[in-house]
Amino acid sequence: MRTKLVAGNWKMNGGLAQNKALLEGVMAGVAGFNGMQAAVCVPFPYLAQAQQALAGSKVAWGAQNLSQHDKGAYTGEVAASMLLDFGCRYVIVGHSERRSLYGESDELVAAKYEAAQKAGLTPILCVGETLEEREGNITEQVVGRQLDAVIARSGVASLAKAVVAYEPVWAIGTGKTATPEQAQAVHAFIRGKIASLDKGVADGLVIQYGGSMKASNAAELLSQPDIDGGLIGGASLVVEDFVAICQAAQR
Ligand code: PEP
Repeated sequence: MRTKLVAGNWKMNGGLAQNKALLEGVMAGVAGFNGMQAAVCVPFPYLAQAQQALAGSKVAWGAQNLSQHDKGAYTGEVAASMLLDFGCRYVIVGHSERRSLYGESDELVAAKYEAAQKAGLTPILCVGETLEEREGNITEQVVGRQLDAVIARSGVASLAKAVVAYEPVWAIGTGKTATPEQAQAVHAFIRGKIASLDKGVADGLVIQYGGSMKASNAAELLSQPDIDGGLIGGASLVVEDFVAICQAAQR
């Protein structure tokens, strides 16, 4: 049985005072929830704050990016070992904003995924197609290629210690959500592709949906057989909304 994972991606939002209220609200909101895991992926400067606020609670925390390198002359970059110093469990890799705004290639994403795992972090590997790609009927090709880059570098067995987030780019921050059927179809494709290589890994793999998931659509999306949680952008910044999504994810 896979445990649903609802992870907030705060992106470049927040501030010390705001974060305090959000972290405390989420922690209190999910305290009584069972059969699901909640997490928040915060901006780098607030990792210490998240660690202090959330240590010993049911809420895990993580980062939104990392360097593919271990250490050295890489000004402005953050290594996996540094994330571990602040108690991170998760790190998002290959978010579509990193791919499109910062030119991260499939190969770079695969290198970051490997760096995260080598340090003992759980990568949340984001995959997903643009609207143009969906309309061109190449969604499976694109998502398959993004997965293949990681499998080629780290092997299919590495997915036993990873999370995949299917995030159609056209649904991120747009208010447009994939229908439960559209999302389920791609999730089933992802699980099937991995099952063709290793059924055990595929069966255990948590595949989140991301793209305008909110309190009003979470229950339906999360009731699909291959949707094992959510990666939540906008709605993760509002305590009540994020907690409501976590509530919908309970077993
Ligand atoms: C995201 O950034 O991963 C995301 C899913 O954003 P939103 O929920 O705002 O669409």
